[in-house]
Amino acid sequence: MAVKEILESLDWGPAPESDKFAREWLDQHGPSFGMYINGQWVTPESGDNFESFNPATGELLGTISQAGDSEVNSAVAAARAALPGWSSSPGHVRARYLYAIARQVQKHHRLLAVIETLDNGKPIRETRDADVPLVARHFYHHAGWAQLFDETFPGYGPVGVCGQVIPWNFPLLMLAWKIAPALAAGNTVVLKPAEFTSISALVFAEICNSVGLPPGVVNIVTGDGKTGALITEHDDIDKVAFTGSTEVGRIIRKATAGSGKALTLELGGKSPFIVFEDADIDSAIEGLVNAIWFNQGQVCCAGSRLLVQESIAERFHEKLRSRMAKLRIGNPMNKAIDMGAIVDESQRKTIEDLCKLGCDEGGEMWQPSTELPDKGCFFPPTLFTNVSPSSTIVQEEVFGPVLVSLTFRNHKEAISLANNTRYGLAGSVWSQDIDTALEVARSIRAGAIWVNCTNQFDANAGFGGYRESGFGREGGREGMHAYMRPLSNGTKTEKMESRGEQKSATKSSSSNATESVDRTAKMYIGGKQKRPDGGYTMDVTGPSGTVGQVGRGNRKDIRDAVEAASGATKWATTNAHTRSQILYYIAENLEQRSAEFAARISAMTGSTTAQAESEVADAVSEWFRWAAWADKYDGAVHETTMHGLVLALNEPLGVVGVTCPDERPLFGFTRLVAPLLAMGNSVIAVPSESNPLAATDLYQVLETSDLPAGVLNIVTGIHSEFVPALAAHDGVDSMWVGVGDVDEVQIASVSNMKRVWKVNMDASGDEYLRQSTHVKNIWLPHGINHATKHRPMGSANSARPSTNVSRGPSTNGCRRS
Ligand code: NAD
Ligand code: MN
Repeated sequence: MAVKEILESLDWGPAPESDKFAREWLDQHGPSFGMYINGQWVTPESGDNFESFNPATGELLGTISQAGDSEVNSAVAAARAALPGWSSSPGHVRARYLYAIARQVQKHHRLLAVIETLDNGKPIRETRDADVPLVARHFYHHAGWAQLFDETFPGYGPVGVCGQVIPWNFPLLMLAWKIAPALAAGNTVVLKPAEFTSISALVFAEICNSVGLPPGVVNIVTGDGKTGALITEHDDIDKVAFTGSTEVGRIIRKATAGSGKALTLELGGKSPFIVFEDADIDSAIEGLVNAIWFNQGQVCCAGSRLLVQESIAERFHEKLRSRMAKLRIGNPMNKAIDMGAIVDESQRKTIEDLCKLGCDEGGEMWQPSTELPDKGCFFPPTLFTNVSPSSTIVQEEVFGPVLVSLTFRNHKEAISLANNTRYGLAGSVWSQDIDTALEVARSIRAGAIWVNCTNQFDANAGFGGYRESGFGREGGREGMHAYMRPLSNGTKTEKMESRGEQKSATKSSSSNATESVDRTAKMYIGGKQKRPDGGYTMDVTGPSGTVGQVGRGNRKDIRDAVEAASGATKWATTNAHTRSQILYYIAENLEQRSAEFAARISAMTGSTTAQAESEVADAVSEWFRWAAWADKYDGAVHETTMHGLVLALNEPLGVVGVTCPDERPLFGFTRLVAPLLAMGNSVIAVPSESNPLAATDLYQVLETSDLPAGVLNIVTGIHSEFVPALAAHDGVDSMWVGVGDVDEVQIASVSNMKRVWKVNMDASGDEYLRQSTHVKNIWLPHGINHATKHRPMGSANSARPSTNVSRGPSTNGCRRS
């Protein structure tokens, strides 16, 4: 072709990456690959294995070992044996190892990038510029946390042996997100990569070996879901960390419920990408290309739900279609390719089936006429319009290059559409107006919000979800906490026991009650005293007989309480000063009635007057304590590799159910309820079953203290009759178990994956605050010289000044200009 013709067509010639060194590595170590256990390469006794392919070509890359019982047992045993040595080694020593691993990742970054592309099918441009640099950055960053461990996290130690199971979409990066914080905090690990993409984890094992990491600290076992289950269900594992589908997450949540294992889950998403009429449209289009076609859309936080303002929708769709038509799809080893292969035929089929369903449900599907390679596993970029918010294709995660588009009229509608999902992983907001951008960013219920950018990641900014996207964070300080436990917290076998006196409320509805019916303490729901729905009451007895009666709550009372709490979420955005004032006011009003409360407590529990008075005084002081914290539990501005601000906000969890301990019932109630209120949560409190009256008497205090209706609801009765319903309710975001069977609560709450905290009454204030909140990171890039206007195509994210290669994935856009 003459130069002139080339200039006219502006066609890209192929720019193939060499696979020479990767081939050499595969030849040396394959074609059958072992596993890395206790510092040794082993193959399974059973001889079981499975094949791994390059999805872009169908070529067989080798056979991977399928670990069974015996290999998983020996990996866990090796991790257990290595734990004392590793966890007691000085932070500096652990830091040196993590640093050495980071260096090795950098030194071998091309090998890792090519192996990853061959095994997964994602473009070499992405593995080279995003995956592998982010892996190195993650190990460097966590070398720092290991170094600073003792001075930053006094009173904390590692959780123990961690079982880690990861997906195939970012094989090495997910491995880094799991292993780096675990090792930094002194844990040892057994990690299983996904069956489609095991090989880069084996290269990583070799790196661990080459830096002399002590045997057993990192164990890599390979296999499919059966092997995964052997790990997550293993008795001698202290913590399970899982990234993958919500479906498998639910299985693991169920399997670990009641085991005492710590758990973090990073699951799926259906993240909104919101474009306002005042957005820089060209940048938004490029951002969208990155959001949904990066890694063929096989990204948990993919911007797969476009919400575009009605006034610009038509123009935006038009531009989008013409941009889609220019995306280059082909061999991912070609450096000039935008979209590579789907990881496996089974995944391609899932995508195809969902698209078919989308059409059957009346959606309009559009795909460019771009030719796909004639072999390999490819799927074209796809746009769905004419869909409704309830369409399957709008609600379900496709995990492929498929975008759905809905329109909205105003920002209120945008927010409600954005939050119309069971997921809450990420969101992207495009507007040149700072008020709109920030208001919407704060209103989306998700863990990461990108303003005028998308798919930004950094080791120092926690990543993770709300609601069915899971719980726990990876990265930064909050990610470290997922691998630590307070040293005073006891062991996993310790069960929370009711330390109160061994007496229970009489369960009969009373004919011989000593108090008249209208003196029965009622429940407190939606700011009003409520009789129990079932119409039953029960006696509360003390050492010298019946002290009073309370309502015997049932499921309906729980439903009413959840409804009231859900309607009171304005509390979350009430300013912190006001929240603290209200809590102080509760303290004052309680103090005024000290004598009355002390008398109640003595009558119920048999404590002496002095003991009861000191309990009330402690409760007053506890209200003061959390009132003080209300405006002091600050978020952070993270230092990341992006030019701009990353604001980490501590947000309330939402509606929280709490069971309160029997011992020192008023104090116990306060210690659990007050921090949650201080942080902006709405609460459904279940007072001690045997000593509920101190809590029910509080309604008088609450009524005179300006606490908005529904923010605190109190349901009394026999816990076993309604606590499971509370735990199971989809409107409840989290459970704090201060008394009773934490296992039962965990099992009951499997369906919507609540975060459940087994309360440690003696935990530090910091622990209470952390358990009352989750972190949202809002990414705000800025820079006058790099204004978002008139950027060349393909630079929505990459026009930022960069001093570091690991800034985050660049876009799929062309780099012609
Ligand atoms: P998957 O859940 O099928 O598999 C994930 C891993 O779990 C694999 O290693 C698999 O072998 C293992 N596994 C399967 N069944 C198991 C069982 N019963 N017990 C234990 N382990 C088991 O998910 P996938 O198809 O590999 O990955 C796609 C999903 O991962 C998507 O839904 C995506 O949203 C999610 N994802 C989430 C994040 C995040 O950070 N939130 C990141 C990447 C992917
Ligand atoms: Mn593969």
